[in-house]
Amino acid sequence: ALTTGIVGLPNVGKSTLFNAITRAGAEAANYPFCTIDPNVGVVEVPDERLDRLAEIVNPQRVVPTAFEFVDIAGLVKGASRGEGLGNKFLAHIREVNAIAHVVRCFEDSNITHVAGKVDPLSDIETINLELVLADMETVDRRIERTRKAAKSGDKKLLEELKLLERIKEAFEAGKPARTLDLNEEERMMIRDLHLLTIKPVLYVANVAESEVGNPDENPYVKQVRSFAAEEGAEVVVISAKVESEIAELEGEDRELFLSELGLQESGLDRLIKAAYKLLGLITYFTAGEKEVRAWTIRRGTKAPQAAGVIHSDFERGFIRAEVIAYDDLINAGSMNAAKEKGLLRLEGKDYVVQDGDIMHFRFNV
Ligand code: GDP
Repeated sequence: ALTTGIVGLPNVGKSTLFNAITRAGAEAANYPFCTIDPNVGVVEVPDERLDRLAEIVNPQRVVPTAFEFVDIAGLVKGASRGEGLGNKFLAHIREVNAIAHVVRCFEDSNITHVAGKVDPLSDIETINLELVLADMETVDRRIERTRKAAKSGDKKLLEELKLLERIKEAFEAGKPARTLDLNEEERMMIRDLHLLTIKPVLYVANVAESEVGNPDENPYVKQVRSFAAEEGAEVVVISAKVESEIAELEGEDRELFLSELGLQESGLDRLIKAAYKLLGLITYFTAGEKEVRAWTIRRGTKAPQAAGVIHSDFERGFIRAEVIAYDDLINAGSMNAAKEKGLLRLEGKDYVVQDGDIMHFRFNV
């Protein structure tokens, strides 16, 4: 399963946020693929379309799709030199598919800041630098090897060497690999390096409880936003403390609490949606009387592989898929009406599944 790692300096609110994630808790039994590990939190992806589908189909149960956040605590200055639990934490970051970088934007004299004062940009720099330094080592080693091997005059190796040197240059300027705008071919060339700084990142600005209603008046948030904009990264503003309170509430209590805060949606829900997008994920649905359910695939996945997310037999024995686009079904009002209007399509093994497709797979067992 694809995961997002929560990173940040100590005392910025990571554990508080992670507690909110585990408290909001997805029903683990629904998601057998998920890892059982105290550092992994399973979240359900909020999706209004599920409710609309349920109204049309009237199923016995509705199951949202889910993915995982991993708490990667302990990243400190010097981690790339093995300080703190340095290398161990870098290894954990290597395993995630995207990074949610939490920065402290709240003032609180009772809570020590590791660098002495609240300064989110300097915090971002500190962490980025550790990751860049770790990647630098990886790239240096590879450059040395490739340089030797390229003496044979192999064109491919020479090309690779040039790319590695370009990446090294970025690192020397303190820039993460993700800022390099590499094309698909170049990405493939360095894929086995598993660089930390090539992973997509979003920033989580953690503000004080009193600021959740009007976060943009917080000057630190402004700084984070303009920094992130340069990288083309998203910013999600939350108050981790408030999120841990929201996560304990359900139904009407929750709605009431949110509206008192002037929020439409919890910060956690916004974070979940942003991370889902960052991972390049989309949702398709299955809709039967027993169950209406959302499933996660990477954008660009073809029908048989999408079917494989439900069960490997579906992929192996794939014949074809019956597909209705979400909007078509909603406009038609019922499955039968959609069929009568000819909105149900038969698609084969090369069909690229679209976000919101309602799929029914035909397969041989
Ligand atoms: P971590 O070291 O990054 O995991 O940080 P923690 O989640 O342990 O938070 C450090 C301290 O900051 C704790 O005392 C939290 O209660 C506090 N904290 C976290 N989020 C907020 C917040 O939104 N507002 C305030 N005032 N304190 C917070």
